[in-house]
Amino acid sequence: MVELLRTLIRHDTTNRAPGDAEGELAAARWVEGLLRGAGFEPVLLARADAPHRANVVVRVPGLDRSLPGLLVHAHLDVVPAEPGQWTVPPFAGELRDGWVWGRGAVDMKDMCAMTLAVLLDWAATGRRPRRDVVVAFVADEETDGSYGAQWLVDAHRELFEGVDAAIGESGGSIEELRHVDGRSVLLSRVSAGERGTLHLRLTASGTSGHGSRPHDDNPVLALVDALHRIGHHRWPLNLSDLVRSQLQGTADALGHVVDLSDDAGVEAALETLGEAAEVAHFTVRASTTPTVVRAGYKVNVIPGEAVAEVDVRCPPGCTEELLAALPALVGDRVRMEHTVLNPPVEAPVDSPWFAALRDAVESEVPGAVVVPRCLGGGTDAKAFSTLGIACYGFAPLSLDPDGRRPGGMHGVDERVPVASLRGGLRILTRFLDTV
Ligand SMILES: [Zn+2]
Repeated sequence: MVELLRTLIRHDTTNRAPGDAEGELAAARWVEGLLRGAGFEPVLLARADAPHRANVVVRVPGLDRSLPGLLVHAHLDVVPAEPGQWTVPPFAGELRDGWVWGRGAVDMKDMCAMTLAVLLDWAATGRRPRRDVVVAFVADEETDGSYGAQWLVDAHRELFEGVDAAIGESGGSIEELRHVDGRSVLLSRVSAGERGTLHLRLTASGTSGHGSRPHDDNPVLALVDALHRIGHHRWPLNLSDLVRSQLQGTADALGHVVDLSDDAGVEAALETLGEAAEVAHFTVRASTTPTVVRAGYKVNVIPGEAVAEVDVRCPPGCTEELLAALPALVGDRVRMEHTVLNPPVEAPVDSPWFAALRDAVESEVPGAVVVPRCLGGGTDAKAFSTLGIACYGFAPLSLDPDGRRPGGMHGVDERVPVASLRGGLRILTRFLDTV
């Protein structure tokens, strides 16, 4: 598995912009060849207009084909790396001091390698899963999946026939936290939802003219007024069932007493839990964050138009309220368009799937507590959930006994402890063998 990861890292699958990740094809071909050599029947799929943006999908028939299927998805692309800032070359796949180093080591070629290792182990030992397991190694997660997960869902939904649940990016790893009585607690946060993503474009039109002759129809001012309202707006608390069980579960595990029955109680719980509440600080309410502003071309010219983009995130269960409230906040001087509108994702926590994830963690890591969580951002689960698939974030890594921690995701010196990979593989194998 470690060697699989190192080889995957050496395939530079940098995703710089839409339509640009040349290395995805070579990585996908390597994965396809490995699977075919082990006796599986993978398919390599890419959009006709971008044959190098390749995906690999394989279905492993289960022992009982009447059971609903499971999807395992992981992306092969990575974000760019600036080699000059790194301790090691980012695409060398170095194994050093108990770590595997390189871009993708934790996001998320580690999960690709663990999943491949399980498949190859099944082939070598003749074991088979109880139910059909569909595995998708996808392109383009680091942009928007339009060459990867989203395209597969749009153009090849037949691949996911009979699939009821999925595991994928972000969740399951073992963390060590402090109980109020001082002892350490092992927590595994399994994602069971994501805030929705809306990208807004705001356009103010006005009258251009000389900067020395101000007038009331300046689009820059109209846009700034709208951005001020929208950016400073504090959205009301909107506690989804998922975030509620996240906060309650985390508090219980750490021995904190919280009362989530009203808004003040929720605010107090967030305060009490602090960093242990993790992304719940962002997922208890919607957020509207101006990120891009474009206007003007010369200091003494009032432009005719000013444009901004706003990153909007919305917890499960409040999309309609948010959409209804936005126009008043933006005002009537500015035109508003949605450039992206991906609804929130929420999978049940009281499901046999979640129970199986919990069992796998608790069997391999005695004493660990599994807590559900809602992600603040998005993953490919956004695409797969539109097929009615219950999507969980589960790509587990265990603790390193020497205290090393995975790090550098989207940053410098991305690396993963070998011991964490090995423990993660045991958890993943247990889950896929028993689910
Ligand atoms: Zn990722």
